[in-house]
Amino acid sequence: MAPRSFQARLLLLMVGVLVLLQVATLLAVHLAGQRSLRRTLRDELRVGARVFDSTLSARGRQLSDTVRVLAADFAFREAVASGDRPTITSVLNNHGSRIAADAVFLIGLDGSVAADTLADSRFVDRPFPLPALVDRAREKGEAAGVVALDALDHRPYQFVVVPVLAPEPIAWVCIGFTIDERVLDGVRDLTALDVSLVASPPDGRPLLISALPRDKRAELLERLREQSRTAESLQLGGETYETLLEPLETADGSRVQMLLQRSLEQASGPLRQLELRILALSSAALLVAIVAASFFARGVTSPLRRLAEAARRIGRGDYATPVGVTQGDEIGQLAAAFDGMRAGISQREEQIRFQATHDALTGLPNRVLFLDRLAVEIAQARRRGSLVGLAVMDLDRFKEINDTLGHSFGDDLLVEVGRRLGQTIRASDTVARLGGDEFAVMFEVADARGALDVAARVGRALEAPLTLGGVSIDVNASLGIALCPLHADDAGTLMKRADVAMYQAKRQHGAVAVYEPGRDEHSLRRLAILSELRQAVAGDQLELHFQPQVALAGGRVRRAEALVRWRHPRYGLMSPDEFVTLAEQSGNVGLITRWVLQQAVAACDEWQRAGLDLAVAVNLSALDLHDPELPAFVVGLLQQRSLPPARLVLEITESAAMKDPAHAQTTLGELKARGLALAIDDYGTGQSSLAQLKRLRVDELKIDKSFVTHLGGGASEDALIVRSTIELGHNLGLEVVAEGVEDAAAWERLERFGCDLAQGYFVSRPLPEPQFREWLETSSWGQGRGAPSGDQRSAGERASGAGGNA
Ligand code: C2E
Ligand code: CA
Ligand code: CA
Repeated sequence: MAPRSFQARLLLLMVGVLVLLQVATLLAVHLAGQRSLRRTLRDELRVGARVFDSTLSARGRQLSDTVRVLAADFAFREAVASGDRPTITSVLNNHGSRIAADAVFLIGLDGSVAADTLADSRFVDRPFPLPALVDRAREKGEAAGVVALDALDHRPYQFVVVPVLAPEPIAWVCIGFTIDERVLDGVRDLTALDVSLVASPPDGRPLLISALPRDKRAELLERLREQSRTAESLQLGGETYETLLEPLETADGSRVQMLLQRSLEQASGPLRQLELRILALSSAALLVAIVAASFFARGVTSPLRRLAEAARRIGRGDYATPVGVTQGDEIGQLAAAFDGMRAGISQREEQIRFQATHDALTGLPNRVLFLDRLAVEIAQARRRGSLVGLAVMDLDRFKEINDTLGHSFGDDLLVEVGRRLGQTIRASDTVARLGGDEFAVMFEVADARGALDVAARVGRALEAPLTLGGVSIDVNASLGIALCPLHADDAGTLMKRADVAMYQAKRQHGAVAVYEPGRDEHSLRRLAILSELRQAVAGDQLELHFQPQVALAGGRVRRAEALVRWRHPRYGLMSPDEFVTLAEQSGNVGLITRWVLQQAVAACDEWQRAGLDLAVAVNLSALDLHDPELPAFVVGLLQQRSLPPARLVLEITESAAMKDPAHAQTTLGELKARGLALAIDDYGTGQSSLAQLKRLRVDELKIDKSFVTHLGGGASEDALIVRSTIELGHNLGLEVVAEGVEDAAAWERLERFGCDLAQGYFVSRPLPEPQFREWLETSSWGQGRGAPSGDQRSAGERASGAGGNA
């Protein structure tokens, strides 16, 4: 199994390399040792051969000395001279045994054997088989040589030939000594080699004379027969022998070889010991190396392990603890780089956290962080028994400022407001930007009065005009305050309550409002309405009611004003006063206008089909004047139904027309150009000048109901205004409508003043379409029977109108 840890692998590698190195060294030592051993052995064997040679020659000289002494013996010479063969033979025997000779010959001057000591005297009277030896003795005075005579069992002998002098040579005496184990032992003692002699007769078994133990001799002979003559090593008794086989110079030309051998096992004993010692030493070195390597591996891997631990820490999100590896090498550099990375991540995370909890523009805490801190502050204040105040602030007219002076100005303004707020509060308090132009301040106070002090301080901070890029601007803000635990126990609720208070301040056009319990319901409803408007249009929750406008002269119904209602699933039937303003704020009013236009035109079309000569009036919002596609849309609707444009009257409140006269003029001009009738609604409540009205090219004025409702009660001022308005309108060529006609008295006055049309509860309340049609058919107004002149009739009409009102 492969080792898993880096440390183990490193260790294995180092130890492996060491082991390999040592094995290689040992092998090299062994091979070189073996080679040099063999070379040495060969040298030894060659030297041994020379020693053997010189031993034999030395022995030959020694033997010849001995023989010479014998030949000089008087008795011996006398016996030889006597020619008496038995005597000679006995003398030869005696003397031969004295010098331990193995064979003695007496050779006559003619070269034939005169006598010998051999048992069968087989050479007697025959020529001496080694005449060369005798010849050399004749020349040199003596001769010696090795022989292996067939006649002598082919055993190797050393023959010595000397003359028998009297004083001239009278015969030759030749004495032979076998070369036996003792001779070989002598050589072995000198050379430490096993020495043998191999005599190979031309026919017959080779003969071995050897100092080897008996059992090995037979095996050696066997091997010699098997192996080639040049073999340098032999297997003997399971041992390897380095061998040298060299022919010995023989006097008779017979084949005698000397065999020198040395056991390789024995010779390599010291080498093996050396190798063992090297093995022991290298094992010890290996052990030391393993210890050192494991220390080294630990030195390398423990910083790595610490790096890994650091990486795991970073993974867990702990960026604070440094890696803690300080060393100058590459690992140290890695650790330093790693540490740099850790610091970088930590810094970036810090940045991300900051961005997630702070507003990018002002650098103030954002809503998330603010709510967190508020919760903490509330918990602390609870322990201390103090109050936590929360002021939520919304800049007035910020959208306008943004639109007119540009977004970058708006941004600068927000930054400056944030800065000023930051300066007014104590270090322990927090300012945050909640979003858009909404800021919040959180503070600790002892009582409600303290909260108002803070509010005043904040107000003062914004009092001085802000000067940005050369533009000086007054900034007003609406401030809503809520206190914990007076108004809420937790941060979320406290925030909502402060919001409610802030809206209250806005509605009252005051700078500061403190939360009043019971307002939440109202603001929740507002929120619901805002979010559900779109759905209401799409989901058929809107209804259109119609209120008739009647000609004062003759009492005929001329047209009906379409008034929208919202049948809300939870809040029931809601008046347009409640949701149209919200729709305007949320930018959804266009949806409502289009829906109403569609329904109103459709209704008008049906009336026309039913033979009723009625126009329809629809209210436009101030924002509709900014819709460039509205005129085309209206014309399209009329064309679909083939209705003449004059059947549709569009009502625009005076204030809407005056708010943006330029836009109003363009849009109304376009509508007018397409033949639609235009009316100024709620006339008298805005500050319009006659000149402006003229420029708008409207067709009629609708006097606001606030002037009309009490007309019957004898209010002389209202009467004056109504009367002069009617006159004025007529002078400008406009029709005049009075809305809010609630009683016969008002009717009569209007009739007297010459007003053209009347609309109000006196005639009918706004009614859903089916009831409106019913009303048209049943009431005297609907029949065009003219204005009622009696109280009973007006009372009856009132009742019917009231009954139809939803
Ligand atoms: P407005 O255009 O002035 O409409 C007349 C309002 O006076 C209607 O209120 C009507 O019910 C009420 N009224 C009629 N006769 C009398 C009366 O004899 N005495 C009194 N005191 N009031 C009378 P409503 O239907 O609640 O509408 C309120 C306002 O909502 C409308 O005022 C109009 O400005 C706006 N509005 C209604 N429908 C729409 C619409 O479809 N689009 C737009 N943009 N505004 C609408
Ligand atoms: Ca109206
Ligand atoms: Ca009105």
